[in-house]
Amino acid sequence: MNVIKFGGSSLASGEQLKKVLQIIKDDPNRKIVVVSAPGKRSSEDEKVTDLLINLGTAALEGQDLQRDMEKVLSRYRTIAEELNLDLAIIDEIKANLLMFTAGNKKTPDYYLDAFKASGEDNNAKLIAAYFNKEGVPARYINPKEAGLFVTNEPGNAQILTESYSNLYPLRETEEVIIFPGFFGYTKTGKICTFSRGGSDITGAILANGVQASVYENFTDVDAIYVANPTVVMNPCGIKELTYREMRELSYAGFSVLHDEALYPAFKQGIPVQIKNTNNPKAPGTSILKKRQLADQDVVGIASSTGFCSIYIEKYLMNREIGFGRRVLEILEDQKLSYEHMPSGIDDLTIILRDNQLSKEGEKVLLNRLKNELCADSVVVERDLALIMIVGEGMRRKIGTMSKAATAFAENHINIEMINQGASEVSVMFGVSAAQEQLAVKALYHAFFE
Ligand code: ASP
Repeated sequence: MNVIKFGGSSLASGEQLKKVLQIIKDDPNRKIVVVSAPGKRSSEDEKVTDLLINLGTAALEGQDLQRDMEKVLSRYRTIAEELNLDLAIIDEIKANLLMFTAGNKKTPDYYLDAFKASGEDNNAKLIAAYFNKEGVPARYINPKEAGLFVTNEPGNAQILTESYSNLYPLRETEEVIIFPGFFGYTKTGKICTFSRGGSDITGAILANGVQASVYENFTDVDAIYVANPTVVMNPCGIKELTYREMRELSYAGFSVLHDEALYPAFKQGIPVQIKNTNNPKAPGTSILKKRQLADQDVVGIASSTGFCSIYIEKYLMNREIGFGRRVLEILEDQKLSYEHMPSGIDDLTIILRDNQLSKEGEKVLLNRLKNELCADSVVVERDLALIMIVGEGMRRKIGTMSKAATAFAENHINIEMINQGASEVSVMFGVSAAQEQLAVKALYHAFFE
């Protein structure tokens, strides 16, 4: 059986829901459907989750709710009207939201989470009603009823392991199950949401729990592209990726899906299939534990800004026992987590996320590194972009690095740092943030055109 998840843009209107119904009808294995809240119908539109945050915040502050309430209800009403559903469901949604306004304001994070979660919860009820009306037997299931339990971390809940075995019996379903994404319940019965975009997490958890043969994630693009389509014109789609490649790509800014969200499916070895609701015939992208390595070395290029580097130089560093430990101890003391640490004989560079290091923090850190390590020099560089080329095939192929370096040289891009991960699945280049886009274009040209 397949677990199939639809994102907000796939559920934003009656027209979209008709496509969703057809997709479910097309394959009888599609038995467990995880849904988001209605998303944007156009780029100017608002997501229902954002409207609910406004409503919940207004309720928390004791403001008049009429306008914010109507904004939420009108989204569901429009969908219900487009699908000729019984409008009594809108009254039920209103009653549900009014119930949350009477929640406990002394725990504002939980109070708000109940509003946020209602976006998917009410949408799941509405979609189940629609499927039944169209003759596809469907049943809404609430995460509490199914035993999807999470930690006490509103807005950033983590799954409790026992949930997986609780969910397993859902496999036996005759009807199509409509399951709301994005939240679970704490052991004391409180609603708690995952991080934003968390319906992907629910889908992966269910796929793991019921041991699905595939987790289909329907979104609004034909595939995961080899490079960011806002940087490169019409990049090609990726047919197959390994979990590892996906992890490396999403680390460096790939935005279709976050690998952490998919981890519960990866852990169980379940293939993840990315598909387009608006073009379900397109083959999409499969993310697998292993794939046949074609001739191609690089499968994707990703990039991300917002990094800084700290370069530490000390003569005979290679002979000084404990030097690395002392560097890391200082970082730990300053509450800094580092991303990478390429090193040479007498020097090493620490790459950090820029936003961790205030001007003041930078001063303290530099002083400590210089004085406590007796370093010859310590230099910070801000505004660094990391560009990553990823592909399992690189391990065997000769010349990948020279191709990349030539592409940079021809485009006058200065490589500030190179790091090949120990796994040889990726090579990372540090360049100045101003040259990020140029660097991605140059690599795309070298590897894919
Ligand atoms: N509706 C939630 C959000 O906008 C979760 C999701 O769509 O995955 O973040």
